[in-house]
Amino acid sequence: MGRSVLVTGGNRGIGLAIARAFRDAGDDVAVTHRGSGAPEDMLGVQCDVTDADQVEAAFNEVESQHGKVEVLVANAGINDDGLLLRMGEEQFGRVVDANLTGSYRVAKRAASSMLRLRKGRMIFISSVVGLSGGAGQANYAASKAGLVGLARSVARELGSRSITANVIAPGFVTTDMTDALTEDRKKEILGQIPLARFAATEEVAGTTRWLASEEAGYITGAVIPVDGGLGMGH
Ligand code: NDP
Repeated sequence: MGRSVLVTGGNRGIGLAIARAFRDAGDDVAVTHRGSGAPEDMLGVQCDVTDADQVEAAFNEVESQHGKVEVLVANAGINDDGLLLRMGEEQFGRVVDANLTGSYRVAKRAASSMLRLRKGRMIFISSVVGLSGGAGQANYAASKAGLVGLARSVARELGSRSITANVIAPGFVTTDMTDALTEDRKKEILGQIPLARFAATEEVAGTTRWLASEEAGYITGAVIPVDGGLGMGH
């Protein structure tokens, strides 16, 4: 039997690639979705991370089938870009609630299981713009920067119980989220990336799986870029 792994937003995009990487390594993987279902070969649980009751119910379901969650990947996220002067409070708050407060909700629930196991790995999917900022992305960048403080606090609080907490900061990855960019914007971004291409989802997935491996057991509180060099110098 593998470890019980939960990937939020693991029904598509980066989360799905992460879920597959763990499953291929022999872990028991569950993914959350918000009603669209999950791929047939994975345990799917319905969960909107903005709702603490749904988070609790999802963990209970996963744990009844796979045992206590030992690896949590907080990946679910949204963006809703707009310039600061036109950004309403609802638009700001909604993105922070999904990306940052949602990660706090799942981390808190996961911590209670990991404390009982006396081990665990939490991995938060942030973004290069969490560190560099992004014009038109005050809400998204703030939420992603917040994950660094969240992860590092968890790392300090729970390190003595063999629980690690790390952040991955991807650059631009080919998914539905980046498909929404205009061709002109994509060209502009590509010009700033030393590797001159977007990442494949599998490249973020490989780093995530490795961070949860034995080999990475002494890494905690780290921010690992997977960004083709876009954020060098952070
Ligand atoms: P997608 O838009 O392809 O997928 C987003 C995932 O998050 C979906 O599974 C979606 O579920 C889920 N989700 C969104 N809101 C919620 C919520 N409130 N509760 C539960 N699940 C939710 O995004 P990506 O795969 O591109 O991104 C995944 C993560 O990686 C995000 O956190 C994103 O910010 C981050 N990232 C992405 C980059 C990129 O270039 N693509 C770069 C850097 C970071 P559903 O299917 O139900 O909508």
